[in-house]
Amino acid sequence: MRLSQYFMPILRDDPKEAEIVSHRLMLRAGMVRQESAGIYSWLPMGYRVLKKVEQIVREEQNRSGAIEVLMPTIQSADLWRKSGRYDDYGKEMLRITDRHDRDMLYGPTNEEMITEMFRSGVQSYKDLPRNLYHIQWKFRDEIRPRFGVMRGREFLMKDAYSFDLSKEAARHSYNKMFLSYLKTFQRMGLTAVPMKADTGPIGGDQSHEFLVLAETGESEVFFDRGYLEMDWQASGISYDDAEGLQAAINGFTSLYAATDEEHDQSEFEARVTEDRRVTGRGIEVGHIFYFGTKYSEPLGCLVQGADGQQTAVHSGSYGIGVSRLVGGIIEASHDDAGIIWPKAVAPFDVGLINLKVGDADTDAACLSLYQQLGNAGLDVLYDDTDERAGGKFNTMDLIGLPWQVIVGPRGLKDGMVEVKNRKSGERDTLSPEAALQRLTG
Ligand code: ATP
Ligand code: MG
Repeated sequence: MRLSQYFMPILRDDPKEAEIVSHRLMLRAGMVRQESAGIYSWLPMGYRVLKKVEQIVREEQNRSGAIEVLMPTIQSADLWRKSGRYDDYGKEMLRITDRHDRDMLYGPTNEEMITEMFRSGVQSYKDLPRNLYHIQWKFRDEIRPRFGVMRGREFLMKDAYSFDLSKEAARHSYNKMFLSYLKTFQRMGLTAVPMKADTGPIGGDQSHEFLVLAETGESEVFFDRGYLEMDWQASGISYDDAEGLQAAINGFTSLYAATDEEHDQSEFEARVTEDRRVTGRGIEVGHIFYFGTKYSEPLGCLVQGADGQQTAVHSGSYGIGVSRLVGGIIEASHDDAGIIWPKAVAPFDVGLINLKVGDADTDAACLSLYQQLGNAGLDVLYDDTDERAGGKFNTMDLIGLPWQVIVGPRGLKDGMVEVKNRKSGERDTLSPEAALQRLTG
């Protein structure tokens, strides 16, 4: 992509409305635009990142055996009356009336709809277990939308719903999601710590929130270093090995971890040696929850068991805040100059800076690099604008692409270009061939 033909409305100054760094940087880098309180348009740079985050979530859901569907954003109120939640949900639900005076709503979540969908398509125990998910916009009329996409009113969520014959089987489904979440966040360059969460009136021990560490997180967190030391992608645990998976999760969650609500300082000090205690703040990026037959009973989602008896299915729901993650990643990875994108979610791989647009040699060297990097499968943002060098450097640092290649007449005289790693700040002067090798090797 040539910057001269792109749409990336950079702000030079800090927007006043942004209280936290991710919001500020997303506005400054031209990633999103607020349309009304808590409702955003995703501009090209932001949309690229959102799609990458979404795709990682999708791939890891699929690997765990979950199956993708797409449910609508608008739902009928009748469905929610059946479960009893229409009145309970309160003002966060955006209620709409259609031209026939039917009560509709913009879905804040999809338990009712998916339970109905599953009920109508399933007959016997042989159709279980299943886990269905979608990645769809939600609306919650948050009382205080803030922090940009981190607490929006309209936001993109992955929500999965598992269906099992028994509580024991449902635990395996829960554990699969648990592992897939750890793998998902790790692929985005994040460390997410699972914390036991309150299960509310349903009870049980199966609810975890996944928190990403960042200074601006809404919750205070306390945990054992061990949570930071695990490589889930390399762990080799099989989703099909119910016992092995349970053992791995038991071992992992036996380490201390708690948010401020559940934290007990004396237990923390007793269980975790001082050098292994980590405290900080966290952002909730995912939440998994076993709720049993809460929806299957009122909605009549029954299956015939092997014994011929009709039984209500056991379910759980599993959310990931896809749009919140874009802000969360920035909170976890930035410096004074701007964003530092982890490779897996970067909007482009390389920013190519032409220091003297119009100079025949510089233009030719840039074009050649642009084409060769593209041919090697890298996404390149080529700054071919006539802005001055200082402005170009600032913009590239702000938008945080993993690599910068800087090409100017002075270096080219000696046959050299400069390669800069955004994260480490390391700069190397290399021939264009060696630069290519560095970035593609
Ligand atoms: P919170 O406690 O942050 O209000 P929640 O517990 O109400 O969130 P869940 O119902 O668990 O949210 O939703 C699943 C995920 O969706 C959350 O873990 C979070 O990442 C994301 N999410 C929830 N509300 C918002 C929001 N208003 N804006 C952006 N993402 C959100
Ligand atoms: Mg939650």
